[in-house]
Amino acid sequence: MAAARRRERLLQPILSPYQPFSRISISMRTKVVPALLPLVIGALVGTSPGSAQTVATSAPLTDIRYEVTFTRANAERRTVSSAMTFTVGGNAPVILSLPAWTPGAYEIDNFARNVSNFAAEETGASLSWDKLDPDTWRVRPHGAGEVTVHFDYEADSLDNANTWARPDFLLFNGTNLFLYPQGRSFDFPASVSVNTEAGWKIVTGMTPRGPHTFSATNYHDLVDMPFFVGQFDVDSAQIANHWVRFATYPSGSITGGPRVAVWETLKRVIPVEGNVFGEIPWTSYSVMQIADASYGGGSGLEHQNSHVDIYGPGLLGTPVIMSIYAHEIFHSWNVKRLRPADMYPYRYDQPQPTGLLWISEGITDYYADLAEVRGGVIDAPGFYSATGEKISEVAALPPTALEDASLSTWIHPRDGTEYIYYPKGSLAGLLLDIMIRDASNNKRSLDDVMRDLYTSDYKNNRGFTSDEWWSAVSRAANGKSFTDFYARYIDGREPFPYDAVFPLAGLRLAGDTLNEPRVGIGTVQDSSGVHVTQVVPGSSAEAAGVQPGDLLVAVGGFNAGDPQWSEKFRAKYAHAARGSAVPIVVRRDGRDLTLSAQLNFVPRVESRLIEDPRASAKARRIRDGLIHGVTTQ
Ligand SMILES: [Zn+2]
Repeated sequence: MAAARRRERLLQPILSPYQPFSRISISMRTKVVPALLPLVIGALVGTSPGSAQTVATSAPLTDIRYEVTFTRANAERRTVSSAMTFTVGGNAPVILSLPAWTPGAYEIDNFARNVSNFAAEETGASLSWDKLDPDTWRVRPHGAGEVTVHFDYEADSLDNANTWARPDFLLFNGTNLFLYPQGRSFDFPASVSVNTEAGWKIVTGMTPRGPHTFSATNYHDLVDMPFFVGQFDVDSAQIANHWVRFATYPSGSITGGPRVAVWETLKRVIPVEGNVFGEIPWTSYSVMQIADASYGGGSGLEHQNSHVDIYGPGLLGTPVIMSIYAHEIFHSWNVKRLRPADMYPYRYDQPQPTGLLWISEGITDYYADLAEVRGGVIDAPGFYSATGEKISEVAALPPTALEDASLSTWIHPRDGTEYIYYPKGSLAGLLLDIMIRDASNNKRSLDDVMRDLYTSDYKNNRGFTSDEWWSAVSRAANGKSFTDFYARYIDGREPFPYDAVFPLAGLRLAGDTLNEPRVGIGTVQDSSGVHVTQVVPGSSAEAAGVQPGDLLVAVGGFNAGDPQWSEKFRAKYAHAARGSAVPIVVRRDGRDLTLSAQLNFVPRVESRLIEDPRASAKARRIRDGLIHGVTTQ
C-alpha cells in the first residue's frame, strides 16, 4: 500500500522508529464453514479439533433468528440492541458464545466486553443464566419451546471490526452482535431483522428477504456481512455484469469529481482482478466507507462481498485509497475464498495464526498494484514507484522472515515489523512472478498459481497448505525447485535477491541515499491522540526526555495529529544545521511539556525500480506480461 496505513486494525504505527517520519499508515484487514464438533445432546463435553481445551456443547437449536434494534433513542445512548430467538426441544442448557475476533482483523478483541443487560426469556418467563467463560453464556430453558436472549452492545468503537454509532448512523459487524451455539455446527440458516427509524437506509452484503429482513445460509456468512444503518449516501453501478454499491458516511463526505473518480477506479480494477481467477465470485459487492475527523490514517477490512473502509482527514480523494479499494476487493478471492488451511474454517473463540499470511496479505497487495497498472489507474512508472517504496520500507526494518511475521501479527510486535508481511510479501509475489515467467518462457505466471489453488482448494471447500502453495509455484515454473528460495527468503531472513531476479524482467534497482532529519520516535494513533510507543536508544528524542507513553502533541511546530506532519517536518528541517533546536511538545500526566531536541540526520536509502533499456527480448516480454497481465501462448 503506497503512502498509507496498513492494517487489519485500527492502530497502525504511524511512525516506525526505524523509518521515522515515513508515512501515515493505512491498514487492510479482511469468512466459511466448519464441520466442527460432535453433536452431543445436552451440556456434555465435546473436544474441538486443534484445541487441547474441551468446550461444552449447547443443546441443539432450530429456527434461529436475530433482531437488531437501532433507533434515535439507541443512538443517543450509543448502544445497539441485539436479540436472538430460537426453538429448543427440552430443558438442556443452551450455551451461546460471542466471537472474540473478526476475521481479517488478526487480533483478539473480546467483543463480549461491550455487552450489557444480558437476559433470557421463554414464553414470557425469565430464564436463569450464568457464564461459562468470558464470552460464553449458559441459559437454562424451562422445557421445549421458543427462547429469546437479548443484550445491549456499546457502539462506540470507530473500528471496522467493531460497532460504531452516531446520532444518524450505525456500523455493526455480526461478530459483535450474533451469538452462536457453542460446540455445534456453524452450518445453520439464520435471518436478521433490523428495527430502525422510518426512512433510514440499510446496506449489507446479506441476501434481502424483505425491506428490513436478510438471510444467510450459515453462521460464517452471517458474521461476514457488516451493516450500515441510518442516513448516508449510496449509489450503484454494474461492473462486469455484477452490481457494485458505494455507501459513504457521512452524507456529502465524497461527492462530485472525487466520487466519479472512485467509480472509475472500481470499473478499472474489478475486471482485471476477475481475470486472474477467471470468475467474479459474488453477485453484488458493497464498498462501505466512513470518513471521520477523529481517525488517524485509514483502514480497510475485507469480507466476501463487501469491505469497510475508515479514513481520517487528508486521505479522501488521494491515490492511496484507490489502492486500498483494489487491495480489499482482491481479498474477495484471496483470503475470503482461497485461504490458508490454518484458517479454514474460521473459528471465533481463539486466534488462528498462520505462517501464510504473507500470501493472503502481501500477495493481495502485489495484485492491488497489478490491478491498478493493468486497469490503467496508474502507469508503469507508477507501478515501479509503488514497488520501490515497498523495497525501501522493507530495507529500513529489521530482517524478518515472512513466515515469522505472518505468525506474529496476532501479538503486535513492537520492533517495527508488525506489518512487514504486507510490503515484503508483495515483493515476494513480484519475485515469484518473474521467476515463474522466466522459467516457463513467459507461458505461465503467478496468476496460474492463484487460479490453480483457487480451483483445487477453495472450489473443493478446503484451505491451502504451504506444500500446496510451493507445489503450485513449481508446476507453473516448469518444475523449477523453490526449496532454496523458500529456505533463504521465506522461512529465512536473507535479503531478497533483487539484483539476480529483476533483470529477468528487464528491470533493475537504483538507490539514492538521503540524509533525513529525524528525532527517533515511534507512535501509534487512535481516537485519543498520537501515542509515543518507542523512543530509539541514542536518539535526539531520548536525549530530550521523550518517554514511551507520552501523548505526542507537536514536533518542530507541526501538530502531530496532522497526517502530513512528518513530511512537513522533513521539508522544514531538510537544510537546517545538525544540532539545531527542535521543540517537541508532549502531554504527560495531563500536562503539556515542551522538550528541546537537537536536530539529527539519519541516512536512508530510497530504492527506485527502473527499466533497463538493454534488456533482452525475453526479459522485455516478461516485463510487458507483468504489466499487462498476459503470458506468451
Ligand atoms: Zn488485506
